[in-house]
Amino acid sequence: MNEFRARKRFGQNFLTDKRVIAALVAEIAPQQSDQVVEIGPGLGALSYALLPHLAQLEVIELDRDLAAALREKSTPGLIVYEADALQFDFSSLSTKMKCLRVVGNLPYNISTPLIFHVLSFAKQLRDMHFMLQKEVVDRLVAAPGSKAYGRLSVMVQYACQVECLLAIPPTAFHPVPKVNSAFVRLIPYQKPPHFAQDFQLFSAIVKQSFGQRRKTLRNVLRETVSLADFNAAHIDPGLRAEQLSVADFVRLSNNLGDSTCGKDSVR
Ligand code: SAM
Repeated sequence: MNEFRARKRFGQNFLTDKRVIAALVAEIAPQQSDQVVEIGPGLGALSYALLPHLAQLEVIELDRDLAAALREKSTPGLIVYEADALQFDFSSLSTKMKCLRVVGNLPYNISTPLIFHVLSFAKQLRDMHFMLQKEVVDRLVAAPGSKAYGRLSVMVQYACQVECLLAIPPTAFHPVPKVNSAFVRLIPYQKPPHFAQDFQLFSAIVKQSFGQRRKTLRNVLRETVSLADFNAAHIDPGLRAEQLSVADFVRLSNNLGDSTCGKDSVR
């Protein structure tokens, strides 16, 4: 398997630095009874380092050859699903609340949709530990007003506590990627500190606001939010999306009047 040719289309950059792998395992701090699922085990660099600490490890791998190679080894405790993590029903792994721990050195080409997909199972999740392109981690932790702050920051920070744990250099991988990486921990809130009464509406407002992030909210939300709604939420309509905090977006969506023209259009 050492001669395995990495497939670019699957975002394959395999972890090879043993010290980095040990540092990731230390941050995850796996316990025997934990229910851990890994996205994209690849050649198993992280999987085989996690397994001695766990009763079992479930892994989801899209690449047929890699999934077959992992299965062939018949490693006790390793359960291999050959599947697309973007389509995977994580709730099928656990009916218990706040139980699943999701980890992975994610394929960078699909990391944002993957984060959104995994987050849709937040009720089942205890935490997530992801290796991501550093630029994506910057967006996850970004504060309002910064260049990196956007829809991903708002949606992830709405649902989770986010902590950047480690910066990882390109030399920790083979093939060596052109970008820097970082390891991040996401812990879903039991109940978000700022609670959107209508999550779909909140999500749609955030999406629409950042769709044209250089425009003022008055202009970009013209069809959705009336000036009375802005007033009720104490939001200046002359601001741009990047200037609003998570709490501001929640207040805006919670204060949309019933008569709001075009409200349905953002749902
Ligand atoms: N965990 C390994 C490591 O750290 O060495 C591999 C990480 S590599 C960056 C990403 C892995 O995700 C690859 O094994 C790739 O085949 C797999 N992958 C890519 N797209 C996937 C998807 N949609 N669902 C599941 N696995 C995927």
